[in-house]
Amino acid sequence: RIRSIAIIGSGISGLTVGNLVRETGLDPVLFEKARGPGGRVSSKRLSGDFLDMGAQYFTVRKPEFRSFLDRYAAGAIKPWQGRFLHENEQGEMEPFPGEARWVGASRMSALSRALAQPLTIEAATPVRRAWQRNDQWYLDSDKGQYGPYDALVAATPPAQARALLPTVPEAGKRLREFAMSPCWAVAARFGQDPGLDFEGASLKSPVLDWVARNSSKPGREDYQKHGSWWVLHATPSWSTENLEMAPDEVARQLLAAFRNQFAIEAAPVQWVAHCWRYARPATGNEPPGSVSLDDHRLGFCGDWLAGGRVEGAFSSGLSLVRHWAQLGLIPAAVPEG
Ligand code: FAD
Repeated sequence: RIRSIAIIGSGISGLTVGNLVRETGLDPVLFEKARGPGGRVSSKRLSGDFLDMGAQYFTVRKPEFRSFLDRYAAGAIKPWQGRFLHENEQGEMEPFPGEARWVGASRMSALSRALAQPLTIEAATPVRRAWQRNDQWYLDSDKGQYGPYDALVAATPPAQARALLPTVPEAGKRLREFAMSPCWAVAARFGQDPGLDFEGASLKSPVLDWVARNSSKPGREDYQKHGSWWVLHATPSWSTENLEMAPDEVARQLLAAFRNQFAIEAAPVQWVAHCWRYARPATGNEPPGSVSLDDHRLGFCGDWLAGGRVEGAFSSGLSLVRHWAQLGLIPAAVPEG
């Protein structure tokens, strides 16, 4: 039986594992390199407004996810209503399927903050290396050494997980097949609204993948007094080709593509660009849900193991906890489904 557990990464997958193992009576410790939890569920603050630079919204398809959100995040999320479009092969805009789209309110990171609330998180603590001695895990970080722990979960993108574990060659071998593609994101404020008749649209452009009116999300109503905020995401191929471009130039090019595609005359008055190096899973094969090196009591989870997206990150965390419960490593208090 596992009595102590360290989780590296406090994105949705790490927060899922943290809360589910906590429900079994354990007291996990999460290590996060950023100042706060959330990972790619993140909001940047600019001129007092919060801009969702990563995940835009999330689906709640699985009953286990709904029940998890009911337990931990009921007051922190709201449905995002409006008109959503996608561009078809002929370049025409069509309505996007009318599935419920959930967002953190009043910012996307309200979700991760709510999930983090019951947990012990060592923030601003990048883990450099994780290693095992006498079946116990130890972590080396900029703040010193942590451990021993009976079990370790790496809830980070695969390249970051591999870098942590040079002393476990099986980890490198298992994770080598998984890759992620990058995404440049830009948020821009228009003093005068561009006047588009949708809230979010998925595009076929070689430059832009997604554009959304950030200020139309619930809890952001008062942003309108500053104008309107739009978030633009570049395609994986454009982002890969322009990975090292200066942020201001990225913003200039994405905004030019946006204004060109929708014949927008209004010019933005403020913008910010962010590069996500590990944005979306790039491997097409059927993902396994999670990976566990049982003999090492070492687990891996993340959206890249469960089809991408916020709900995938949750499913991956759930998959790992269920696997360990089946092995009897942790009590089987995990909800069935
Ligand atoms: P992450 O969120 O990446 O969490 C990993 C965490 O590990 C991070 O907090 C990181 O700081 C930390 N970490 C890494 N290395 C270390 C280390 N050495 N030490 C300590 N901490 C470390 N999903 C949707 O459902 N809908 C969307 O509309 C959507 N849009 C997206 C748009 C963009 C631009 C991006 C980038 C993603 C989008 N996603 C969307 C995907 C969604 O954000 C992810 O699937 C989900 O947030 C991934 O969670 P995770 O826990 O797997 O990983």
